[in-house]
Amino acid sequence: MNLRTAALRQELARRPLLCDGATGTQLHLLGLAPGACGELWCLEQPERVQQVHRHYLGAGADLLTTNSFGGTSYVLAGHGAGARVREINAAAARLARAVAGDRAWVLGDIGPYGGMLEPLGEGLPDEVNAAFREQAAALLEGGADGILIETMSDPAEAALAVQAAKAAGAGLVIATYAFQQASSGFATMMGNTAAECVAAVLAAGADVVGANCGTEVSLADYEKLTAELVAAAGSTPVIVQPNAGSPQLVNGQIHYATTPADFAAAGARFLAAGARLVGGCCGSTPEHIAALAARLKR
Ligand SMILES: [Zn+2]
Repeated sequence: MNLRTAALRQELARRPLLCDGATGTQLHLLGLAPGACGELWCLEQPERVQQVHRHYLGAGADLLTTNSFGGTSYVLAGHGAGARVREINAAAARLARAVAGDRAWVLGDIGPYGGMLEPLGEGLPDEVNAAFREQAAALLEGGADGILIETMSDPAEAALAVQAAKAAGAGLVIATYAFQQASSGFATMMGNTAAECVAAVLAAGADVVGANCGTEVSLADYEKLTAELVAAAGSTPVIVQPNAGSPQLVNGQIHYATTPADFAAAGARFLAAGARLVGGCCGSTPEHIAALAARLKR
């Protein structure tokens, strides 16, 4: 484990840490076309990607997330860039690392591979594991201090990604799921409870577990979900990164209604409920993160 990662683990044990907010919605504000490959901007528009990182660093984030959510060979292949995994992910990490300097840590971001594992789908576990490992290795090569696996729905896929990141040499691996409301409480799209989700990634070696994104999950719901995650995680730190409300279509534009003040107040409640890392997912902005930072520093 390198020195920065060791320092990150120590800091996490000492105080709550603040992650950044959404990347995708910020890149769209800077001109990324809907449906275009945002990860390719690590190569084609590096200064715009770094602008997003700079805004979050300025807002007070302790951790910057790389622009590599759709950076597996599977997802990149859909944009004709399946052979550029190493190039794109190493660049994503280098861009964030250059902005972070000594002021923040960098989390190499990994999202779902985009299909379903067998027997429900056609994904072969060995091949999906290899794809995650390829991505994680490139993110670490570019200077990521840890790996963040997010928006997972299937605990088996999340566990594969955690194993792959560990095998690639990550000294800190975070795994988070997208939950929604189910009749029995919170569950992923695949129907797995928070307890099942946490158990799967802990068994695979995750260092931090939690939730991000989420469909129709209010900030008040997130507070209850945080308590469930904390209970399931035991001594393992919990991370919570909600959306800034549910997306709504306003005048043809996607709009997220949660104000920075409400977002910050909720973040403080997640920490009170036992979370150790907070940040934002879709629709959250540098203003949301700055409000949360101000609240944490009180
Ligand atoms: Zn999201």
